[in-house]
Amino acid sequence: MQYPEPIAKLIDSYMHLPGIGEKTATRLAFYTINLPQADVDQFAAALQAVKRNLKYCSICGNVTEDDPCQICRDQSRDQSKVIVVEDSKDVMSLERMNEYHGLYHVLHGVLSPMEGKGPDDLNITALVKRLQTHPTITEVIVATNATPEGEATAMYLSRLLKPAGIKITRLAHGLAVGSDIEYADEMTLYKAIEGRQEI
Ligand SMILES: [Zn+2]
Repeated sequence: MQYPEPIAKLIDSYMHLPGIGEKTATRLAFYTINLPQADVDQFAAALQAVKRNLKYCSICGNVTEDDPCQICRDQSRDQSKVIVVEDSKDVMSLERMNEYHGLYHVLHGVLSPMEGKGPDDLNITALVKRLQTHPTITEVIVATNATPEGEATAMYLSRLLKPAGIKITRLAHGLAVGSDIEYADEMTLYKAIEGRQEI
C-alpha cells in the first residue's frame, strides 16, 4: 500500500531537509496532519516568506531583508576590520556577543575537495573586490570553524589576501578543534577574537 499523494509529497519535502531520513520525515508528515489548520498555515507562510523576503547582501553575503544589510550600512561600525565566517548563523553568534563592532563577510561554506567545493563556489571574489574598493579595511579576521576544511580555507585566504598588504588573523584556538562558532558561548568567542593571531 502506498501513502496518499499529499502525504507522500510532504514526506518527500521533509526529506530534502538536512539530517532528516525517511523515518523522521514520515513521522513529521503524520504529525503535520494532526496540527491545527492555523499552525499549518503559519508554517507554510513562514517558509514562503523566508524565500520571498530574504536575500543575500551584495557587499558581505549575509542574509538580509534590505540590500545592503544593516551592518554594511552602519557607518558607526569599525570600518577597519572584517570577520570572515562560513555562514550567516555565525554572524548572529558573534553579534550576540556584543563585543565586536566591525564588519563581516560570509563565505557560504568552506573549501572542501571532498564535496567538490572550490574557491569559485564560495563568496571570495566579492571579498577581494570589497578589499580593493574599501581601503579602510586593514585587517581580515578569519573565523572559519576549526575543522580541516576551515583551516584550509583560512590558509587559502591568507595566501590570497596577504600580498595586497592586508593583515590576516585567525581566531585563537580557545574553540576546541572541530567545534563550531555557532555553538560557542559568548565568553569563548570574545577570548578567541581577543587572542587572534596573524597567519
Ligand atoms: Zn552586508
